[in-house]
Amino acid sequence: MHSVSDKLDAIPEASIGKQELLRHMQAFLDGDAVLHEAEDLRPYECDGLSAYRQVPLMVLLPRTIEQVQQIVRLCKQYNVPVVARGAGTGLSGGALPLEKGVLLSLAKFKSILNVDPLARTARVQPGVRNLAISDAAKQFGLYYAPDPSSQIACSIGGNVAENSGGVHCLKYGLTVHNILELKVVTIDGELLTIGSQALDSVGFDLLALMTGSEGMLAIIVEVTVRLLPVPERVQVILAAFDDVEKAGAAVGNIIAAGVIPGGLEMMDKLAIQAAEDFVHAGYPRDAEAILLCELDGTNEEVSEQVLQVREVLETSGATEVRTAKDEQERATFWKGRKSAFPAVGRLAPDYYCMDGTIPRKRLPEVLRGMAEMSKEYNLPVANVFHAGDGNLHPLILYDANKEGELERTEAFGARILELCVEVGGTITGEHGVGMEKINQMCSQFDSNELTQFHAVKHAFDPNGLLNPGKAVPTLHRCAEFGAMHVHGGNLPFPELERF
Ligand SMILES: Cc1cc2nc3c(=O)[nH]c(=O)nc-3n(C[C@H](O)[C@H](O)[C@H](O)COP(=O)(O)OP(=O)(O)OC[C@H]3O[C@@H](n4cnc5c(N)ncnc54)[C@H](O)[C@@H]3O)c2cc1C
Repeated sequence: MHSVSDKLDAIPEASIGKQELLRHMQAFLDGDAVLHEAEDLRPYECDGLSAYRQVPLMVLLPRTIEQVQQIVRLCKQYNVPVVARGAGTGLSGGALPLEKGVLLSLAKFKSILNVDPLARTARVQPGVRNLAISDAAKQFGLYYAPDPSSQIACSIGGNVAENSGGVHCLKYGLTVHNILELKVVTIDGELLTIGSQALDSVGFDLLALMTGSEGMLAIIVEVTVRLLPVPERVQVILAAFDDVEKAGAAVGNIIAAGVIPGGLEMMDKLAIQAAEDFVHAGYPRDAEAILLCELDGTNEEVSEQVLQVREVLETSGATEVRTAKDEQERATFWKGRKSAFPAVGRLAPDYYCMDGTIPRKRLPEVLRGMAEMSKEYNLPVANVFHAGDGNLHPLILYDANKEGELERTEAFGARILELCVEVGGTITGEHGVGMEKINQMCSQFDSNELTQFHAVKHAFDPNGLLNPGKAVPTLHRCAEFGAMHVHGGNLPFPELERF
């Protein structure tokens, strides 16, 4: 396990003791909404990035927006940091608690307030599970498109805070493209409505700013999402390749042929074999890579696109192309993909899931680069990812009990992200920066850009109380990390000490 303090800086000091703060919170929250005993706090000590753990000062579970407002007002008054938490499935330590901070759980905000089939929208509380929205909309022939693999557990508030993606985001967009309006509570306790029920709203696009803000700008207390009609027909094609790079090139060829699949996913040999052993999805075990291409739309559209995609796959060098023969086989093909993470988890005591994005056309060379690094670091890597949107999820296999292996794994992961940036990509596709990738932000952005991020943060949260130390590194950290961009030979912030 890692030291949290290495990764977090700029944490404000509270001006109130724990007991006094507890008394303030207990004055207006139910008894079971204020957790402060060690055994009650322990379940909240990490999110999905369990290499980092920290028990919070206290956990608060409000039920109403007014209670959220009162909590943040008190925190502002006494300079207490606040970390929002949805379902805690985040993979970048975004919801990692702070030792001297309040963990504000939105778990009790779990009502679907309204589904409007005519407007094709749903108004929901932030703690509602992603999949529960589609379940509620199903009776109207509608669904919510962004579908993170964690959708049975993760909350819509967390999805907005991370701008989450999923298999269907290639065609239907990320969370940011599928929400219309947010209600948020600022650090001053004000309730703001951002965006509108219409497709556009006047003024600066604060809706986009809030999406992906990782709990650093405000607390999301209500979300209006867009719903889409369930497609008339869905079909899946499985294509096998004897070469990972050919599979990578086929991805670009499909899009270049003018087809935007509902989903376009890739798995390499290690992932294929793990998934096959785990759920028997019918994957070709000897293939170096497979693509799963989902096509959706009207019956005619899908029939036409199936022929078109099959042809592209064959000319791209696929050794086998199989269209699911019925709904059951389609579900089985997807079961392998959706179980790939736990399947890979059976291959080694631990794995580290990376999340970088690259321009689609650079896929072949990045896959090659990762294979070379895998040899260099002597750590196997399995690839399971949203190939259509160039969102990589390399899973580095390691054993945390072996001396130095976690550090080697993290160094390998950091190199992968740096490669993503080198080819014009980003250090995160959908999992966010959190505290995990705070150092890599220094490679992605220069000091001017980071200064602008700090200015935005300051406009919403001048005392830096909302999720401090996460997502946007201090300039000092970047100077220490040694990854600050140097323009024209001029070292930025020369007065800062280098270590
Ligand atoms: C097995 C597995 C598969 C996954 N697959 C995907 C995937 O395909 N695509 C994908 O995008 N992600 C994926 N994830 C990551 C994760 O599920 C998403 O990031 C998800 O959106 C997190 O939601 P959550 O409710 O668990 O948020 P949390 O982990 O609780 O919080 C995440 C961040 O959001 C902030 N936050 C949470 N709620 C609020 C709120 N109401 N107001 C303000 N800030 C808030 C937190 O402070 C934190 O910074 C996966 C995770 C796992 C474990």
